[in-house]
Amino acid sequence: MRNRRAALAATAAAASLALTLSACGQNSEGGSKNDKKDPKGATVGIAMPTKSSERWIADGANVVKDLGAAGYKTKLVYGEDDPDTQVSQIENMITQGVDALVVAAIDNKSLDNVLQQAADADIPVISYDRLILGTKNVDYYASFDNEKVGELQGTYILDKLGLKDGSEKGPFNIELFAGSNDDNNTKYFFGGAMKVLQPYIDDKKLVVKSGQTKMNQVTTLRWDGGTAQKRMDDLLTSTYSKERVDAVLSPYDGISIGILSALKSDDYGAKSKPLPIVTGQDAEVASVKSIIAGEQTQTVYKDIRKLAEVATDMVDASLKGKKPQINDTRTYDNGEKVVPAYLLQPVSVDKSNYQKELVDSGYLKASDLN
Ligand code: BGC
Repeated sequence: MRNRRAALAATAAAASLALTLSACGQNSEGGSKNDKKDPKGATVGIAMPTKSSERWIADGANVVKDLGAAGYKTKLVYGEDDPDTQVSQIENMITQGVDALVVAAIDNKSLDNVLQQAADADIPVISYDRLILGTKNVDYYASFDNEKVGELQGTYILDKLGLKDGSEKGPFNIELFAGSNDDNNTKYFFGGAMKVLQPYIDDKKLVVKSGQTKMNQVTTLRWDGGTAQKRMDDLLTSTYSKERVDAVLSPYDGISIGILSALKSDDYGAKSKPLPIVTGQDAEVASVKSIIAGEQTQTVYKDIRKLAEVATDMVDASLKGKKPQINDTRTYDNGEKVVPAYLLQPVSVDKSNYQKELVDSGYLKASDLN
């Protein structure tokens, strides 16, 4: 039973009491030695993917804060976008005796063995933001409606081009970018966007001049902005020497910044050559500043303060043998099981609503955006 480990890692006094009682095969309420009513003081291991993006730094800090407020100790590690590093970090935390794990995977398929070790040690695992695939040893999934993220990006492009309300007929040129192919979210973001863009591509109102429309042609390993910049450079040279690109579907702010650098190097942004519509995700400070400056056009804001609360509830409930709040039990099949999930709602943000959504809500400080 899971609760045995929580018992072992409770506060020193509680732990020694639990151990004494477990030696008698009974706890203070006369239950079995595995029962644990108060796991407060237990330690939660948190494995985040990278410090190279602001959002994950904030995610780590938020989860530490919320678990701390709920009475847990925490160990926070960052895998620096290297799957092997993340596996050994999780292994170490298991060896050190953590009682629960919160994991935002780098490579969603690399964690099978290490999560078996977690299961063998009765450690519950919360898949944080990115679903871990190919293992039954994931208890809950805390995330956003990831398909909706893509729909918001695609719909924004249609709206801005005037295709949605029919005020423009096109054709407009568009290029597509997707996230990292080892992140399960990528196919939801891209799928959501293509669901709304594809009918316009079929009607030739949108034209992907490069012909690169399949997800595996447009992914960006580890969401790297430099990789995206290079691909955009190549597209501009190979395909847009005579025509202009009107919109670029970008799944993440760091990628958008790379795309914009390539565009600006090709004189987009000059009066005679306006920048295309460029979407994004995460409402990172550099991108919100870029939106205010009229460069990046849109981002998708996901309130990760709420995500940390959801993950904390999942940890707390798991360690207490209770059921956390769940609002989705069918979407996220990881190949071994449908992982019960709580999905939060993303919000489309541009110049017109960043103040209300990001600043007034306290997500970003006005001073950060100066
Ligand atoms: C997250 C996005 C983020 C991306 C790159 C995805 O798994 O859901 O919010 O932009 O990773 O870090």
